[in-house]
Amino acid sequence: MAEIIDGKAIAAKMRHEIKQETAELVSKGITPGLAVVLVGEDPASRVYVSMKEKACADCGIFSDEYKLAADTSEEKLLELIEQLNADSRIDGILVQLPLPQHIDESKVLETISPAKDVDGFHPYNVGRLVTGNPLFQPCTPYGVMKMLDETGVDLKGKNVVVVGRSNIVGKPVALMCLAAHATVTICHSRTVDLPAKVAAADVVIAAVGVPEMVKGSWIKKGAVVIDVGVNRVGEKKLVGDVEFTAAEQNAAAITPVPGGVGPMTITMLLYNTLESAKRRS
Ligand code: NDP
Repeated sequence: MAEIIDGKAIAAKMRHEIKQETAELVSKGITPGLAVVLVGEDPASRVYVSMKEKACADCGIFSDEYKLAADTSEEKLLELIEQLNADSRIDGILVQLPLPQHIDESKVLETISPAKDVDGFHPYNVGRLVTGNPLFQPCTPYGVMKMLDETGVDLKGKNVVVVGRSNIVGKPVALMCLAAHATVTICHSRTVDLPAKVAAADVVIAAVGVPEMVKGSWIKKGAVVIDVGVNRVGEKKLVGDVEFTAAEQNAAAITPVPGGVGPMTITMLLYNTLESAKRRS
């Protein structure tokens, strides 16, 4: 049976360290600050935003919330971002996605100062990741890398298969694995013979958004499996993108859903905000 990679425990350990470092910085007169901008009433976004604020408070990071009506104009939102770019109390700016249809998401993300882009979505930060000199790395993939590191997985020379090529998970995690000297294959909806690709992997990272589509029988004996997927099945049950019960028979280590990658995402947001405040200091 596989080792279960405990995301909750890794996140708790990191948050403890972040809290200590934040206290040290505060004692030097610098309080890390995160601005969280929410446009509209999307219930899931509201939950994420309140989780992020609570996490900040638990670690001693100052957070400032901006709740804007769903019909807020793009111009008003861009104005607010410019104001936050210039606000010396703010080290990180997070605009909760998705935005209402009438707002151009790329324009908004590109208005955030790259030096406060704690989500790592600004093209400047994407470019720095591509060129191997990252400033801010996007939170979910960065969390995946921390988990692999904490589990003692050395990616050097390993075959990593990433299933999914989104800008927020698949592509950045593939780049991070490449930077860690893995040989990386990126798969997507047009990939031919996905089972064979996955079967060749020493490390499988699934970020697909389809419940249990990566079958346990595809996993090579002794592989490490990171399941980024979070899919609601029925009223209450959450499952990942990997068929967990079958995959854990073959894997050496595997992340559960929930309790795997999920807790790492907000942790890395705190981490990036603290790093930004350290640069300010
Ligand atoms: P996207 O929908 O943006 O991307 C999904 C990717 O999976 C696409 O590249 C798509 O390919 C590929 N894909 C879809 N179906 C198949 C298939 N049958 N075979 C192979 N590839 C396929 O999703 P995200 O990257 O945003 O999210 C992925 C998952 O991760 C979701 O479950 C999401 O909820 C979860 N997630 C979890 C987070 C966390 O904090 N734990 C944070 C962010 C996401 P193509 O490009 O060809 O369409």
